[in-house]
Amino acid sequence: MDTLWTDFINSDWHDFRDSGKHEDRLVLTSWQHRFLKDWKLTASVPATEIELQRLQSLRKLLHNYAITFVNGSSADQIDWDELNKIMAQVPVIKQWNHHEGSRQLVYLPLTQDWTSVMASIVSDFVYTVLDQDIHRIRICDNPDCRWVFYDDTRSRTKRYCEDKTCGNLMKVRRFRAKKGLQHPQ
Ligand SMILES: [Zn+2]
Repeated sequence: MDTLWTDFINSDWHDFRDSGKHEDRLVLTSWQHRFLKDWKLTASVPATEIELQRLQSLRKLLHNYAITFVNGSSADQIDWDELNKIMAQVPVIKQWNHHEGSRQLVYLPLTQDWTSVMASIVSDFVYTVLDQDIHRIRICDNPDCRWVFYDDTRSRTKRYCEDKTCGNLMKVRRFRAKKGLQHPQ
């Protein structure tokens, strides 16, 4: 399952095949438009050079947390002051909202720019840490892919971002490796 903050992290894209191809999609206007649309966020596109630098350092910070959680660390590793600082840059109002049959209290940012997008990303990360299970955060087992995702399966055993792509590819690789061992050239 992709969440707002994992989708953001995965803008640092690696080809799941072993081509070694790597692309920072965050800098692409097409990625920025798609990301804002999918998560119903507003900011001007293209992001400025300074905004991109701030987004990239936030991505690095959250990616490092994801790695420490995958390695079994607890939420004690988190620098809450740093995250609070990012969220504190954006004033919000609370609003009762009745949308598609569900009633909820929502927090609406008073500004709509990349700073408020960053605050939303951080809030989503904080939500995962506080209300979800950080030990369900995974990094795809295909070492070429490195996709970060939240494992929401009942069995908690999801190893690949997608079974159809990375799962199948790794199955073929294991099969070939096994064959190679049995029949050395
Ligand atoms: Zn993958």
